[in-house]
Amino acid sequence: MISLIKAKKSLGQNFLTDHRIAQRIIDAVSPLPADLVIEIGPGTGALTRMLCERSGRVVAVEIDADLVEELRRSTQAENLSIVSADALKLDWEKLIDEECRGVRWTNRSQQPRVRVVANLPYYISTPIIERLLALRRRVFDMTLMLQKEVADRISSGPGSKAYGYLSVMVQYYCVATKLFEVAPSAFTPPPRVRSAVIRLAVREHPAVEVADESKFFALVRASFAQRRKTISNNLKVAAEALEIRGPVESALEAACIDSKRRAETLSVEEFASLCARLGQR
Ligand code: SAM
Repeated sequence: MISLIKAKKSLGQNFLTDHRIAQRIIDAVSPLPADLVIEIGPGTGALTRMLCERSGRVVAVEIDADLVEELRRSTQAENLSIVSADALKLDWEKLIDEECRGVRWTNRSQQPRVRVVANLPYYISTPIIERLLALRRRVFDMTLMLQKEVADRISSGPGSKAYGYLSVMVQYYCVATKLFEVAPSAFTPPPRVRSAVIRLAVREHPAVEVADESKFFALVRASFAQRRKTISNNLKVAAEALEIRGPVESALEAACIDSKRRAETLSVEEFASLCARLGQR
């Protein structure tokens, strides 16, 4: 089928053609009959058909009308709905509500676990992840193929060069595990970068308790504004925007954080502790 379909670079189309990698992804997801799987960007269906064999229901959201038509023609699984839409604009809550209704789910709660699976086009991976995090109360987990650098940024801990705002934001809501890396040769056409598969298991409660999430994330963002600067210098620059009351140094001391440290060395817990002591209005 791939030979008949010309990959559109503008839509990030690098189709997975290594069947063993597809199998590894499906095994990592391990979908069950009580699961509703949402696949973003099914493309030519490398993962879709395998997902249909093992899940209760699969909803595949694809932006490219040519691929939607081809997938509808070539994949006739009864438990598959193909939605022709832009994943960045879709009303996900509505879609999940519609899919949960009208199907007799086999588990006791009569509600499926919602599992997201995607080999994401690299240019939209961060905005898609942000949208999925906003949907976290409806989603059980996400298994995503990403550009290796993005997967590293998401899964890294303090002390690593890759650790930053994206790591803290994702790890606040999810347990992030990098599963394995994938070489460009697994795709047609091959991308220029290495890829990695990552699992984000949505936490029942965020990793730390914060009084105001938007202030917490604003603080984290400001702390990483200039990675080479110390945390105290970054926060002084942003003091007004963050509405920080009182000296930054006192708050750092109260949170037992050396003012000469850089943001990349602070754990999610330390950011939360600092946020509580900054007395932001
Ligand atoms: N899942 C297939 C595979 O593994 O071979 C295709 C992966 S390809 C990297 C990305 C897919 O996402 C393409 O089919 C592309 O058309 C689709 N896509 C790109 N932007 C999208 C968007 N905004 N919403 C939904 N699908 C999108």
